[in-house]
Amino acid sequence: MTPGERAKETLKRLSRKYSKTPRTALNFASPFELLVATVLSAQTTDVLVNKVTERLFKKYTSVEDFAKSTPEALARDVSSANFYKTKAKNIVNSAKMVLADFNGNVPKTMEELVSLPGVARKTGNIILSGAYGINEGIAVDTHVKRLAFRLGLTKHEDPVKIEQDLMKLIPRSEWGNLSHLLIFHGRAVCQARKPKHDVCVLADICPSRKI
Ligand code: SF4
Repeated sequence: MTPGERAKETLKRLSRKYSKTPRTALNFASPFELLVATVLSAQTTDVLVNKVTERLFKKYTSVEDFAKSTPEALARDVSSANFYKTKAKNIVNSAKMVLADFNGNVPKTMEELVSLPGVARKTGNIILSGAYGINEGIAVDTHVKRLAFRLGLTKHEDPVKIEQDLMKLIPRSEWGNLSHLLIFHGRAVCQARKPKHDVCVLADICPSRKI
């Protein structure tokens, strides 16, 4: 089986197992809320982020509310997330920039998104796909990185190179779906320390089933 065939079969089986329309586990009701949740999610579980944002989005109901705050005040509201001080600073500065440079709307291009503080390519992909349905690339987080390697879909360790490899293997319309499905499978079955090969729906096509 070629990597392309394996990638397509992986998509097929994981969408049957998890969802045909997978989406991020982060809760949000607007593009800026997704930006906030995604920035908070670095080195922090989605479950914890959802707990934090449940309170946060009741207190800060618009981009303006975040822009009017200060990094110190916002930090107190997100203090259970890792690196909360840096994240709070980036969120307040991003809100100011969205208002000043983008008319209050989270931009829809990768180039503009990565100009916002704390937004790198992975976050940009999550926002474009999750908030706007735009498949600009594939968000490569720690699960996607590990599973892509184990499934023999890449030989690289650098997320940018892994993203390029994955983009060549499946149609653009599936880019966002692949990222979500690999994340679901990485959390549930193909965990970092103890992958559960015996219950994995990919075992017969996975080159790492004996690791
Ligand atoms: S067979 Fe094992 S290594 Fe391969 S995807 Fe499944 S759990 Fe991961």
